[in-house]
Amino acid sequence: MADESQRGEGLPEDVMTDDCMTTYTHLYSPDLLKDNVAFITGGGSGIGFRIAEVFMRHGCDVVIASRNLERLTEAADKLTKATGRRCLALAVDVRQPDTINAAVDQTLQELGRIDILINNAAGNFLCPASSLSFNAFKTVLEIDTMGTYNTSKVVYDKWLKDHGGAIVNISATLGYRGQALQVHAGSAKAANDAMTKHLAVEWGPNGVRVNTVAPGPISGTEGYRRLGGPHAENAGMFSSIPLQRAGNKTEMAHAVLFLSSRAASYVTGSILVADGGAWLTSANDVHRLLGIISSPSAKL
Ligand code: NAP
Repeated sequence: MADESQRGEGLPEDVMTDDCMTTYTHLYSPDLLKDNVAFITGGGSGIGFRIAEVFMRHGCDVVIASRNLERLTEAADKLTKATGRRCLALAVDVRQPDTINAAVDQTLQELGRIDILINNAAGNFLCPASSLSFNAFKTVLEIDTMGTYNTSKVVYDKWLKDHGGAIVNISATLGYRGQALQVHAGSAKAANDAMTKHLAVEWGPNGVRVNTVAPGPISGTEGYRRLGGPHAENAGMFSSIPLQRAGNKTEMAHAVLFLSSRAASYVTGSILVADGGAWLTSANDVHRLLGIISSPSAKL
């Protein structure tokens, strides 16, 4: 078995906060996305922020789009300073097609094209199905599933249909085994995984590839903090994951970069699980997870 230090060996750089990395080692050609434009929902925080940074470090200009314009503007400043590429911060609620329409129009006006769409925006929390309100279930479906459809459709109609490009959805493995306390997000992401295949079939002839990355527990994210990551780590529960650790945000960005780029030019309709093998072996025990909900580290 690998010891603690060996487990971290060879990992790409990351920082735990929504800040840019102080150093970055290119694994792919730095020109891989040269002069491309990517539209990233939820790009102001967590995994979406790191995807934006890694794309920009590969020559891409990006739009980061979500509800909190103040946080987005701050994120865009950091990203531009660290990479020298352009980053537009645009207010969008993916549940409201009008806001997506306006943001995509502005992107095309200011940056002239959209080569890549990353559907990363989502909402999640732990909750037993029996305590979940009708409205809470509906809201998660609206953000995760309708939001992915709404944004894909607007970007396709306004640009991808005539120019081709790549869509990458950010999913999760929750639905694979019916993860306890996650009926809302698990159902939403399962619908998105089906949507990936439907849209890959329908939009392939127009040169649009549609794929998904399904992360496992990823450190330095709101998802990780809210879904009991720190508790699981402290309790040694990651030893049940084949790769014995949580993933980092840069590892997710690299998986998304691969699928977004010409390195994956013949890949569409696929779901790349990037979870260290976690869903194959991790516990799915309602009582243990209810314990996580009541622990102080689970900020619900
Ligand atoms: P996060 O930082 O909370 O990212 C979610 C983003 O979505 C936020 O930037 C938020 O920005 C945006 N958002 C939420 N509602 C929105 C709406 N109605 N319209 C537009 N934007 C909205 O969380 P994260 O952990 O990095 O998660 C990123 C993705 O990875 C999600 O799809 C998540 O399901 C997936 N994932 C994460 C993990 C993990 O361990 N972290 C594991 C599996 C899957 P605003 O508040 O500004 O709107």
